[in-house]
Amino acid sequence: YSTATALEEEPIKPAVQVEHTQLLIGGKFVDALSGKTFPTLDPRTGEVIAHVAEGHSEDVDRAVAAARKAFDQGPWPKMTAYERQRILLRAADLLEKHNDELAALETWDNGKPYEQSAQIEIPMLVRLFRYYAGWADKIHGMTVPADGQYHVQTLHEPIGVAGQIIPWNFPLLMFAWKVGPALACGNTIVLKTAEQTPLSALYAAKLFHEAGLPEGVLNVVSGFGPTAGAALASHMDVDKLAFTGSTDTGKVVLELAARSNLKPVTLELGGKSPFIVCEDADVDQAVELAHFALFFNQGQCCCAGSRTYVHEHVYDEFVEKAKARALKRIVGDPFKSGIEQGPQIDSEQFEKILKYIRSGVQSGATLETGGDRLGSKGFYVQPTVFSNVEDGMLIAKEEIFGPVQSILKFKDLDEVIERANNTRYGLAAGVFTKNIDTANTLTRALRVGTVWVNCFDTFDAAIPFGGYKMSGQGREKGEYSLKNYLQVKAVVTPLKNPAW
Ligand code: NAD
Repeated sequence: YSTATALEEEPIKPAVQVEHTQLLIGGKFVDALSGKTFPTLDPRTGEVIAHVAEGHSEDVDRAVAAARKAFDQGPWPKMTAYERQRILLRAADLLEKHNDELAALETWDNGKPYEQSAQIEIPMLVRLFRYYAGWADKIHGMTVPADGQYHVQTLHEPIGVAGQIIPWNFPLLMFAWKVGPALACGNTIVLKTAEQTPLSALYAAKLFHEAGLPEGVLNVVSGFGPTAGAALASHMDVDKLAFTGSTDTGKVVLELAARSNLKPVTLELGGKSPFIVCEDADVDQAVELAHFALFFNQGQCCCAGSRTYVHEHVYDEFVEKAKARALKRIVGDPFKSGIEQGPQIDSEQFEKILKYIRSGVQSGATLETGGDRLGSKGFYVQPTVFSNVEDGMLIAKEEIFGPVQSILKFKDLDEVIERANNTRYGLAAGVFTKNIDTANTLTRALRVGTVWVNCFDTFDAAIPFGGYKMSGQGREKGEYSLKNYLQVKAVVTPLKNPAW
C-alpha cells in the first residue's frame, strides 16, 4: 500500500483542547448524578482522550424534564418562526467559525481523515443548519374544503420533546440530521451521542447556546445504549424518537417505544447496498467510484456500496484495477495531509471486520489484496478486496462496516436486479452505466431509498435519505424530514352559528 505511512511514529497531536466532557442539561454542563465517567479513546492508539460523564436513566430523566419545561413553559415553541430561524443561522455561523476545532475533535474521537472532517463534513453540517433555518418560517398548514358550512384548517405544531439516539460513524452529521429539523419545527430535544464519540456534539451544542438557543431546548446526554439509550427510548415523557444505528438495536428501540408510550419512531438502520457496474461502463471510472462507494469513511457507512456487482464482460479488468486501486489507498494517521483512510472506530469493530475477512477466505472467495491489520497499534485495517464472491457468503450478506470490498459477477439485468434485491436491507444502490434505458430500468426495479446513478454518497441537505425494508422507517434530510417532527391539528369551525 501507499500505506503504513509511518504508523509506528508518534501520533500527531490534535490542535484542539477537550473543553466539554460533562452532560449538557438545561443549558448547563453538569456531572452525571452517579458521578460516573467513561473513557473515550483515540482510535489511532486505543489510548484515552478524556473521561466523559456517563449518563444513566436518572440523568435522562433530568434531561427530559428540562426539555419538557422548555417546551411547555419556555419561549422556544412560541417565538416567531423568524426568531427561531435567526438563532439557527447564528448557530450555523458559529459552527462555521469553529470549523477547525470541530473537525479536530471529530477526527480525534472517530479516526476519520482530518481533511474529510474539515473540508467536507463540518461545511456540510453548517449547510444543513442553514438549510433547516430556511425551513423554520415556511412550515404551515392548509385550509381544507370540507363538505358543509365549515371553515377547516390544519395547524402544523411541534410534536414536543424529541429523543434522538445517534451512532459514531458521522457524529456531527448525524447530530445535524436529527437536531436541524427538530429545532426548525420548534421542538425541544434530548440527544444521546454514541459512547465511542461523545466529544464533538457537546462542543456543537454549546455553540447553539452561544447563538441564543434558550436553555433546555437542546440537551445532550453521553452514555451507553442499554442504559441511557434505553431510558430515552422508553421514557413516558418523550414524544418522538429518532434513531440511527444497527438494525438489531433499531428493533429494540422500536419495541421500547411501543411498550412505553407508543411514541412515533423513525429509524435509520443498516444496509448492504449493491453497486452495479454495467457492461457499457468506463471501467476506470467505475473502479474509482466503486472504490469510493465502499472505502469512504473507512467503510463505516450505512449506505456503503458493499456488494460490487460487475458485468461478466468487464469483470476481469475491473477486479484487476480494483485491486490496484486498493493497493494505492493511502492509510495513515488521519491528522496527516493526504490521508485517505484512518483507523476503524474501536477494537470491537476492528475485530469484527477481521472476523468477516477470515470468513470470506474460508467460504472460498478470492482475497485479491489486504486481509489483515496494519501496523501494531490502534485499529488500522488493510484495504481489502475479495473477488469471486457469491451471494450466499456472509461477506455478501451481512454489514461488515469496514474497508472490505466484495466483487460479484453478473450476466444480465434481470439477474442482477433479482440478486441486488435479495436482501433484508434496502438503503441505497449505485448504478454505473452510460445507457439511459439501463439506468431507468435499474432505478425503478431496485427496492432502496436512494439510487445514485453514476455518482455515490451525494448528500445534499435537500435530498431525502432513508431505507426500504429493514434499513429503516421514515426519511431524514430535505422537506420530508419535517413531518417527523410535526403534529397536524385539524381545526373545524362552522361558518355561522349552528342552529342546534
Ligand atoms: P448500535 O446500534 O449498537 O448503536 C447506535 C446507537 O444506539 C448508539 O448511540 C448506542 O449507544 C445506542 N444503543 C445501543 N443499544 C441501545 C439500546 N438497547 N437502547 C437504546 N439505544 C441503544 O450500533 P454500534 O454498536 O455502534 O454498531 C454496530 C453495528 O451497527 C455496526 O457494525 C454497523 O453495522 C451498524 N451501524 C450502522 C450505522 C448506520 O448509520 N446505519 C451507524 C453505526 C453502526
